[in-house]
Amino acid sequence: MHVKLLDHRLQLKHTFRISGSPDRDFVDVGILRLEDSGITAFGEASPSRVCRETMEDVHKGFAQIDLNKYASPLDYETVINGIKTEFDPPNALLAAIDMALLDFAGKNAKKSVRSLLGISSDRPVRTSFTIGIADLETIEKKVEEAGRFPILKVKLGSADDMEIVTRIRSLTDKLIRVDANQGWHKEEAVEKINWLESQNVEFVEQPLPAQQIEENAWVRQRVKLPVIADESVKTGADIPGLAFAFDGINIKLMKCGGLLEAMKMIRIARENNLRVMIGCMVESSLAISAGAQLLPLLDYADLDGFELISNDPFTGLSLNDGVISVNGKIGLGVKPQNAIFQ
Ligand code: MG
Repeated sequence: MHVKLLDHRLQLKHTFRISGSPDRDFVDVGILRLEDSGITAFGEASPSRVCRETMEDVHKGFAQIDLNKYASPLDYETVINGIKTEFDPPNALLAAIDMALLDFAGKNAKKSVRSLLGISSDRPVRTSFTIGIADLETIEKKVEEAGRFPILKVKLGSADDMEIVTRIRSLTDKLIRVDANQGWHKEEAVEKINWLESQNVEFVEQPLPAQQIEENAWVRQRVKLPVIADESVKTGADIPGLAFAFDGINIKLMKCGGLLEAMKMIRIARENNLRVMIGCMVESSLAISAGAQLLPLLDYADLDGFELISNDPFTGLSLNDGVISVNGKIGLGVKPQNAIFQ
């Protein structure tokens, strides 16, 4: 088995700003390329700030892993569990390995990863388009740019929250989802969420800082819109402890470490009567294609990461009326378009 981790800088079409993070013009990711028995498979690591991971951590973790000590890449559960018990790898690296192994197994069996995971439905789930925090003029441009998406995900958590939503509402009546990215305190959250209810808003994501679970339960008792946990939840182990305080969870492959853990999270969330959403980091079509494999099992999707970049190294996703489809039906279903990854 030959495995390489290649660096790639994803260039953002526009400077991206969210509550509590510095502005960004690019995102560095790692493309994991696995080759064995004439099959080439891929996975992607886009380290998340929520997990406090960087590409440097991903490279350090990668240097500690010897995939060749496992009998076959086809035994993906054994490999992933083996790596997890051996050391505590960055979740973004684990996600890249999980994706590459499932892509490999799918290509070997000539099946999609969706079908390998036992998902037989292809129920469409529409994804939203993210509008980061910006001045009102830029927000107008972004609303225009979101033309192909029927749902907007609006980042709030600044002093201008009401002005931003009011401006967007003067431009479009599309459904809005709000993500406060931990930017509010609890009284402010109640006041803003109750106002947002009158603005055709579907739900609010992570109003309070990640650790404030009790406070979130307090907010939830005072509002009607569903409140979804994002930064408060990373893996399945976090779910039972926050189920009383939220209406749903946002799964991200880069937080949880890949599709196998994501499947487990969906099961635990349903056992706890929680709604389930899939989100993403800024990622290429490769990692988005992995998240898209889970779509039929989910209530909400926010998989627009590949639409925010201008130099996607992979191709194979299409978008119709906000529904992302993976064109290829084998493995993850996308192909590299950069020669270095082929
Ligand atoms: Mg979020």
